[in-house]
Amino acid sequence: GRLQSFSFESRAQRVLFGHGCLAKVADELARMGASKALVLCTPPQRAQAERVADLLGASAAGIFDGAVMHVPIESARAAREAAARLGADAAVAIGGGSTVGLGKAIALESGLPILAIPTTYAGSEMTPIYGLTENGLKRTGKDPRVLPRTVIYDPALTLGLPVGLSVVSGINAIAHAAEGLYAVDGNPVCDLMAVEGIAALGRALPGIHANPADTQARRDALYGAWLCGTVLGSVGMALHHKLCHTLGGSFNLPHAETHTIVLPHVLAYNAAAAAGAMQRIAAALNAASAPQAVHALALANGAPVGLKQIGMREQDLDRACGLALQNAYANPRPVEAQALRQLLQDAFDGVAPR
Ligand code: NAD
Repeated sequence: GRLQSFSFESRAQRVLFGHGCLAKVADELARMGASKALVLCTPPQRAQAERVADLLGASAAGIFDGAVMHVPIESARAAREAAARLGADAAVAIGGGSTVGLGKAIALESGLPILAIPTTYAGSEMTPIYGLTENGLKRTGKDPRVLPRTVIYDPALTLGLPVGLSVVSGINAIAHAAEGLYAVDGNPVCDLMAVEGIAALGRALPGIHANPADTQARRDALYGAWLCGTVLGSVGMALHHKLCHTLGGSFNLPHAETHTIVLPHVLAYNAAAAAGAMQRIAAALNAASAPQAVHALALANGAPVGLKQIGMREQDLDRACGLALQNAYANPRPVEAQALRQLLQDAFDGVAPR
């Protein structure tokens, strides 16, 4: 059906990919027309940020190491102030979705260009979507100014990403591609990226689990994350992303783990209504069933499969269900209260998808 008529928007970004390509960061900053960059990171990634600042030399304005998950407004304000005080003309974000998200919070207000150096598989660097958390409420929005201008994918920077986080982050990326394959505004070009991205992560994650220093597997995973992130930034997401946003925002669950646990159950929920997408996901994972294949990928590589394992409380499932039903959004199968409550129960218990 998608070949009949569709729209496809390409986004203006420059991407460098390859082992060791971080070495080009100073050239890339200059190419963006910037000469005074504020380097952003989380506290544990301070050493990587210092390496970037060293490589930038006189073009580094300073380091702000206060990136936090879900971008609390306080950290966004502090980073914006640091950028203004130091006279920064760009933000260089080295880290995962939280650090790229902090760069986006600066760009949203100031219009400063972002150079992103992703070190997880979350994919935020390929999207114009931002998130900010204020008074315990996470709001998201879309603004072309927050899309990073340049992205440097250097798999060498991911060698130290712990195995557990690597696996759940990789399945987080698969979720973007999976929902892209049944997006109402999907298109055949994004479908190609989605299938290729899922396949790359499907072969990479067992390799990383077996040996976190496997450079080929690290390359495949980051390549897959790039493709899946592009899908996330290009087409509309559905039940899975809505549910994970609700669970993460209202119950403070960790982002990538939540995605990993919920995905097989949402795929099972949508299986009959999106049979074509399921076939493509399953084929990309060399399996017969998409929901079972994702569940097996998580289990085989040591990821959590139940919300009860990551701090969700059973007595909150009703409220989570109510919150997820609040706003209508596109999904292949209509979202019904009773079926959704069962989905949440299954995800909580960590049973195999039905
Ligand atoms: P994260 O950025 O919070 O990183 C998790 C932890 O891993 C951090 O402590 C980080 O410093 C550490 N880490 C990252 N890379 C590392 C490496 N290579 N070696 C060692 N430690 C490393 O986690 P995430 O899953 O990447 O991002 C989650 C956040 O991003 C959520 O808030 C989510 O909402 C957001 N997100 C936004 C978008 C978007 O399009 N706007 C897309 C995906 C995710």
